[in-house]
Amino acid sequence: MENTVLSTNCLTKKYGSHNAVDSVTLNVKKGDIYGFIGKNGAGKTTFMKMVCGMVKPTSGEISLFGRTGAESEALRSRIGALIEAPGLFANMTAADNLNMKMLALGIHKKGYAEEILSLVGLSDAGKKKTADFSMGMKQRLGIGLALVGEPDLLMLDEPINGLDPQGIAEVRETVLTLNRERGMTVMISSHILEELSKIATCYGIIDKGRLIKKLTKDELAAQCKEHIEIKLDLPEKACAVLDGMGVGSYKVTDKNTICVYEQLDRSGEINIALIQAGVKLNSIFVASDDIEKYFLDVTGGAENA
Ligand code: ATP
Repeated sequence: MENTVLSTNCLTKKYGSHNAVDSVTLNVKKGDIYGFIGKNGAGKTTFMKMVCGMVKPTSGEISLFGRTGAESEALRSRIGALIEAPGLFANMTAADNLNMKMLALGIHKKGYAEEILSLVGLSDAGKKKTADFSMGMKQRLGIGLALVGEPDLLMLDEPINGLDPQGIAEVRETVLTLNRERGMTVMISSHILEELSKIATCYGIIDKGRLIKKLTKDELAAQCKEHIEIKLDLPEKACAVLDGMGVGSYKVTDKNTICVYEQLDRSGEINIALIQAGVKLNSIFVASDDIEKYFLDVTGGAENA
């Protein structure tokens, strides 16, 4: 597809008999901020390393910018990546670190390092050596290094890991600026859905190597907003009752559950109307999932965290 920047088909990496990444099929479209979410050890880094050519897949396909095979390998130069810790020269300034990378890539462009520093909010870092940078500054410089060469896809592996709230906010702002002002497509991994939810436009949830859920920003918001949850035996009959009451925004989420997203103050009335219609209710209550709880539910609970 024209607008697809990255797609994988049954991508798998085995270490011995262990599937670090197990048959992952996903698509990242142009302009997406794709939140790749999973607990520690779920397979995020391994997946990203395969896309960047740092780890050889056991099986499956990677397609970049609509090309597969050798053609896609040639297009890896259009990916900028920050995977694990940024490799910085500690005794050098931020600008000199960028100059080194430009040199390595054969880029000679006056003012380019300064332009990137401004993009990642490090214009004021001046003559400070990167050894003296905060964690957030180091991560932002890592993103800056990934930007050298104008990539079309930025892959950031846990860029907020270990950062304080200020550092997290700075990285978030940097990613949003790149996406909005440069139209940069970003795949960003984290084990904290709450943090990703502030910037991501869509999500893939990976657990034990498998992609167990794909959802958009709106779908996540709908999952997590306040709603009346009704556990019952006859959803079809109940839908007719809700329609008759003028309740428009509801969803049958499984064969025994309906979630109603409006008129939350009418739960008592809905209760009576359903019973009168002969629907057997097991429970009816106003629920709201916070984002982290949703993530834990999807990935099998806190005990596995
Ligand atoms: P984290 O955030 O902790 O790095 P992750 O989601 O990025 O987690 P991976 O680092 O991709 O997960 O690891 C996935 C699984 O593959 C883990 O069980 C890990 O121990 C295993 N693994 C990763 N690299 C190797 C390797 N080189 N040899 C053997 N096993 C590996």
